[in-house]
Amino acid sequence: MSEPIPGIENYLKPLPRLNLSDKLFKVGFKRGPEAHMKIISQDVCHKCVDKPCLYVCPFNVFNLEEKDTIINWDSCGEMGGCRVVCPFQNIFWTYPAGGHGVSYKYG
Ligand code: SF4
Repeated sequence: MSEPIPGIENYLKPLPRLNLSDKLFKVGFKRGPEAHMKIISQDVCHKCVDKPCLYVCPFNVFNLEEKDTIINWDSCGEMGGCRVVCPFQNIFWTYPAGGHGVSYKYG
């Protein structure tokens, strides 16, 4: 029987149990050279009653400022759920430029 690799126990530890807020606190973002997402038309947002984009994003990327829907794109978690819930397909979204965007510590 072979000997265990020295120090292997440090790599086999289970990940710490964290709630969602703690996990999101550990998320890192590297701002890209330009926005990778935007509202296509504020006029459409003004007519949108439910504004689901304000509630679906755990990173709080979407906010209201006066009547306008504002995107804090540099803290986007790249889940893409905002595009799915927008009833008017009024969000342009793509991945950030290579080497930019979100990095998750705990997957
Ligand atoms: S869900 Fe779409 S249309 Fe409605 S406020 Fe958000 S981005 Fe605008």
